[in-house]
Amino acid sequence: MLEKFGTSLKKAMTKIAGAIFIDKKLIEEICTELKRAMLEADIPIDIAKDLLEKIKKQASKDQKGLDKREQLLKLIHDELTSILGEDEYKIKIDKKKKPFKIMLAGLYGAGKTTTAAKLALYYSKRGFKTCLLGLDVHRPAAPQQLKQMADKVKVDCFIDLEEKNALAILEKFKSKIKKYDLCIIDTAGRDALSKDLINELASIKTELKPDHSFLVIAADIGQAARKQAKTFKEIGISGVIVTRLDGTAKGGGALASCSETKANIYFVGTGEKPHEIELFDPSAFVSRLLGMGDLKALIEKVKTIAETEEMEELEKVKDGKFTLDHFHKQLKTMQKMGPLDKVAEMIPGLGNLGNLGSIGKKIPDMLQVQEGKVKKWGFAIQSMTPNEKENPDIIDSSRTERISKGSHVPTSEIREMIKQYKLIKEFSSGKQKGGINKRMMQKMAKKFGRKLF
Ligand code: GDP
Ligand code: MG
Repeated sequence: MLEKFGTSLKKAMTKIAGAIFIDKKLIEEICTELKRAMLEADIPIDIAKDLLEKIKKQASKDQKGLDKREQLLKLIHDELTSILGEDEYKIKIDKKKKPFKIMLAGLYGAGKTTTAAKLALYYSKRGFKTCLLGLDVHRPAAPQQLKQMADKVKVDCFIDLEEKNALAILEKFKSKIKKYDLCIIDTAGRDALSKDLINELASIKTELKPDHSFLVIAADIGQAARKQAKTFKEIGISGVIVTRLDGTAKGGGALASCSETKANIYFVGTGEKPHEIELFDPSAFVSRLLGMGDLKALIEKVKTIAETEEMEELEKVKDGKFTLDHFHKQLKTMQKMGPLDKVAEMIPGLGNLGNLGSIGKKIPDMLQVQEGKVKKWGFAIQSMTPNEKENPDIIDSSRTERISKGSHVPTSEIREMIKQYKLIKEFSSGKQKGGINKRMMQKMAKKFGRKLF
């Protein structure tokens, strides 16, 4: 569902996950990626621009208690959620109504008939005695199509193959549908939004008095959904169902446009089969698009670490004050986050490293710090003078010998540690702002192979 949009968004997430610092330049880059992703998904340019403005403004503010990376991810998640649909909406079906009536309206091919059957299946599975009523008197074979689908999902269906007046069909079955908890009504569409269609729906509505009426929109119309949503809202449609979200790149535009007109999206259709419908939960939907599956778990971990204020220590790297002590703390912090490949999986984007090529697959491996090694490096650092820790360049071979004797750490390992320290320092010194990219990872991998981290 919205694969392309998701892939582009995940790319931006990977950038955030791989960045050593969240700075202005990175935020600019992320915004460029987000903009491209949103325009590809047909999200109206004004909405996209608004969102980027908000992100830039908010991202520059410091939120106490939140790590910058976490803050930025949350910000993107929340802003996207708010443009794709503010809240999750659910219908409360009142069984006393006998029947509770849900009417579907929309243009030809929007997916009304399919959705009618999907909803019938959805609610009959949830214990509501459900029937379908076919009021599409325009399209040849429309009643038969509804009946076929009703048979498939095993719900009763009322159609009339002769009658060409929708109100007459309604009258005919009025007493029959009273035996059901829920009746879902399929109506006729038109090629385009027309007065004729609007008038017909208005008269059915007056007669039927539905408890809920949905506009059914196919996601592939993208931002053209705005006009439909607006017009249908004016005739009192109470919600929207966006279908065919599985087969288009433009779905973001359809969702954003409905949401903009405050036409609440209740369900999305995600395939042709009767069970392929789901309640639309904007926040969960965006999390999925961003690949934030386990973000909550990650946030918990990051918070625990932030409490120990070690993250603040790490921030010092930014000011160029990156000593061997900081290096060691950084390694320890990373270790606290648990098996590092698991951490990598939880970082949005790092679970999906395809776009870094074959090197991407190795990142979780490279993130492995052997526990023993970090401990040893700690001993070595403890055997150094403050001057050596601040200026490791002065550590020549005789100093290395001395440190080795004091700490019982082999000189080769001390040299390896200093090498890694220098590499990290180089990457974080400003030359490499903007995060870990493919070239950097290749350089790191070449230098240290799988031994890095
Ligand atoms: P109607 O004219 O509004 O009643 O539209 P139909 O229900 O006849 O659907 C039109 C076409 O869209 C059919 O081929 C359906 O199988 C297809 N369709 C409907 N909903 C979905 C969906 O969520 N995903 C996909 N892939 N196809 C859908
Ligand atoms: Mg139909």
